[in-house]
Amino acid sequence: MERIYLDHASSTPVDPRVFEYAKRFLMKDFGNPSSLHSSGLEARRALEEARERVAELINAENEKCIIFTAGATEANNIAIKGTALRNPAKGKKLAASAIEHMSVLNPMKELQKNGYELSRIPVDSTGILDIESLRNILTEDTVLTSVMYANNEIGTIEPIKEISDIVHENGSYLHVDATAALGRIAIDVQNDGIDLLSLSSNDMYGPQGAGALYVKPGVKIQSILPGGGQERGLRSGTENLFAIAGMGEAARIAKREMTAESQRLSLIRDELIEEILKIDESYLTGHPVSRLPNHASFRFSRIEGESILLSMDMYNIPVSTGSACSSKTLEPSHVLLAIGLKHEEAHGSMVLTLGHSNSLEDVPLIVEAAKNTVERLRMLSPL
Ligand code: PMP
Repeated sequence: MERIYLDHASSTPVDPRVFEYAKRFLMKDFGNPSSLHSSGLEARRALEEARERVAELINAENEKCIIFTAGATEANNIAIKGTALRNPAKGKKLAASAIEHMSVLNPMKELQKNGYELSRIPVDSTGILDIESLRNILTEDTVLTSVMYANNEIGTIEPIKEISDIVHENGSYLHVDATAALGRIAIDVQNDGIDLLSLSSNDMYGPQGAGALYVKPGVKIQSILPGGGQERGLRSGTENLFAIAGMGEAARIAKREMTAESQRLSLIRDELIEEILKIDESYLTGHPVSRLPNHASFRFSRIEGESILLSMDMYNIPVSTGSACSSKTLEPSHVLLAIGLKHEEAHGSMVLTLGHSNSLEDVPLIVEAAKNTVERLRMLSPL
């Protein structure tokens, strides 16, 4: 059977149009954007064009708000450590939703070792942030609050505008990890009231190895990676021109095509959800409506996610079991525990994230593979 790739939250393929555009930066126009000769100037021009395109995709005030990084992990680290260390007078409290990606939670935990206090804001059983808890947790000492735009494991989209209003009442900065949402739903940093936004290229059909941090004008942030002073001094090191130029092209395409593509994918998603929920003791995880258009996530009782992943892979259908980026650990996903699942329930999860290559015709093949997988694993299960 031909491969049906269903793990677009972990990585998307590079769009062929992106590769066509960016390939010249690998072997021909490979100059260093900081060099003053004509090759360097040409590289600088391409870098600045990519900056404009990314700024346009999220409606940033201007292109100077975009700092290119090596990915979302780096953007999250710069946002969190950079604002905490630059604003000691504000206070030493940090807040993050309980379902943040590890690249948000771990830098915050590191700051905890240096005297910062971290509060995790709970979510409800669908993954939506508990607004009352947010109000209670934030104080005048809270320097930064992190809430992701949409969750990569359960697809839930957070009410960012409402959250931003509350965060700003206390004078805290709002950092939003938009990795899972970028290129799938419209993001408008000005309208949403976002101070810092992390982005990743390879989650929107750009090359791996590039990401960006949006920094709203006026936000006080310091470098955590000193060096040659590239990217307004916030991310030193020679820019990955191929990946960044590709990210820019991917942003341009996403801005133009996102609405139609998301409509197309949501039809496939809805069909998938309807059919997979016909399997005995299967449940949707995440929000039924406030959900990414390409995202369908489930749990099955009495089986285990790693075996689901391996079995689906034998049908040539790559899927994820949840914590895609840390699936080497056999710990249940902190996201599934945060939405109130018990350990044994959190183990039986399957996350399907759709993309360009998927069509409605894939649905019966995916459903058949899922049914067979669940049946066979339950027969073997001691539970
Ligand atoms: N945040 C979220 C929500 C993610 O899903 C991921 C991984 N795709 C990351 C951050 C980290 O991204 P990267 O591995 O590109 O640094």
